[in-house]
Amino acid sequence: MKELKELTRPNIWALKPYSSARDEYNGAEASVFLDANENPYNTPNNRYPDPMQRELKNMIAPIKQVDPDAIFLGNGSDEAIDLVYRAFCTPGVDNVVAIDPTYGMYQVCADVNDVEYRKVLLDENYQFSAEKLLAATDEHTKLIFLCSPNNPTGNNLDRKEIKTVLDDFQGLVIVDEAYADFSDAPSFLADLERYPNLIVLQTFSKAWGCAAIRLGMAFASKEIISVFSKIKYPYNVNLLTQKEAVTMLHRHYEVDRWVKSLLEERTRLINEFVTLPCCRKVYPTDANFFLAKMSDAKKIYDYLVGRGIIVRNRTNVSLCRDCLRITVGTRPENDILLEALRNFEV
Ligand SMILES: *Cc1c(COP(=O)(O)O)cnc(C)c1O
Repeated sequence: MKELKELTRPNIWALKPYSSARDEYNGAEASVFLDANENPYNTPNNRYPDPMQRELKNMIAPIKQVDPDAIFLGNGSDEAIDLVYRAFCTPGVDNVVAIDPTYGMYQVCADVNDVEYRKVLLDENYQFSAEKLLAATDEHTKLIFLCSPNNPTGNNLDRKEIKTVLDDFQGLVIVDEAYADFSDAPSFLADLERYPNLIVLQTFSKAWGCAAIRLGMAFASKEIISVFSKIKYPYNVNLLTQKEAVTMLHRHYEVDRWVKSLLEERTRLINEFVTLPCCRKVYPTDANFFLAKMSDAKKIYDYLVGRGIIVRNRTNVSLCRDCLRITVGTRPENDILLEALRNFEV
């Protein structure tokens, strides 16, 4: 990997971050807070939240077996995705490389930040080759985006190829593990110390059942995390979110139960799906959703909408012609979907 200083935008490297009242007071015992122009009434919402989310990070660290300094928390993983562009990519100069198809936010953030986005098509099994990906890079490539299990295809990417990218790429590699809780594959969190150029993204939005609270996690070396901390909004994770996340972490056994039951439902749903006359093929999945090739995705999508059932039409995405992306729901929800599709006239 190149020096982090060389990978970081010069203005960001030189930046002196905004120092909030709660940054400057560093946690010594105190009971009178007259430093932040807050209202003394209406506890607890009158107080600014901890800008560094220390309590939450201290709870997440042992669960993920990483150091608290290796964690960044943001307003969804989408915040972390935007921050990697703002921290490392000079608009109009630098570029990033990503597999295609994949999660749409990588390209949206590239476009917002005026950074060239280079796509490398997956093969027919939705796998990628490190060699092809690396061939798309040049001296201005700062980031490579990988997503495993990948959205919208559902499959894990080949581990060996990911490791080759981590070994051979001189810039930063983002491995988005939003769906890792549903997969048997080991997380790349265990490889953080081995790869200084690795950034792992995870989220409370999927297996943790907390999409509404907007809480995403990025894990990386503490040097990379300090760059994020420098440019994030001072109070980027609000108090209600921090409190709810702490509550959820105490209830983590529920998450295990949800995952187990969703995986059982996934098997049942797919077994039924492949017998539907309107279904051509279901692709292998390691996530809480699957991609299904249908006789006519647009027609079936519209038909389902007419019955109040919403799935994701991916027919306009690369390599996904006539594919619907189906999220696994509760058993009754999945039954409603199956019943509707059985009644669809091909
Ligand atoms: C859902 C999803 C996320 C989660 O984004 P949040 O902002 O944390 O809700 C991240 N990456 C991928 C690939 C996703 O599908």
